[in-house]
Amino acid sequence: MKLEPFIHDVPDFPKPGVVFKDITPLLANPDAFREALDGLATQARQLRAETIVAIESRGFLFGAPLARILGLPFIPVRKPGKLPRTSLREEYALEYGTDALEMHADAIHPGARCLIVDDVLATGGTAAAVATLVRRAGGTPVGTLFLIELTFLGGAKKLGDVPVRSLLRY
Ligand code: AMP
Repeated sequence: MKLEPFIHDVPDFPKPGVVFKDITPLLANPDAFREALDGLATQARQLRAETIVAIESRGFLFGAPLARILGLPFIPVRKPGKLPRTSLREEYALEYGTDALEMHADAIHPGARCLIVDDVLATGGTAAAVATLVRRAGGTPVGTLFLIELTFLGGAKKLGDVPVRSLLRY
């Protein structure tokens, strides 16, 4: 089953010049959603993931069911101020200014093989910040996994030696 027809390009969203990859048609089609999760699960098994670390908020849509399918722990990485207990915080550069992500400091079992999951890899800044959080929390980032990789933005380079896997490349 081809997944491309379920990803809609929305030009100039959320700002002029950006072509937004809308995944909601895929989420709305049970066969396409299952096909996507099956493909992600295959990649996660190949990388021998032991923990799924997913990025708020669209990363949760794939990371949580993936963790359930694989029977693995699910760790949410959240925007600042959302997590209730002691958290690690990592800032990263945006086109203008900075943003930050947080993870509970005790979320990761020491040495766990962590797979970082999100819907789209663009410039790679977000996933690279999460890889740093994983290391600071005592885990090992064994890979990053995306439904969609925007290869022309070169995000994989920002992830250094952490492997990048994706189901759809543009
Ligand atoms: P980046 O840090 O540049 O790799 O951006 C990744 C984050 O921004 C992901 O959480 C994506 O959900 C979102 N994102 C970036 N570019 C797009 C796009 N063209 N379409 C949809 N989501 C995007």
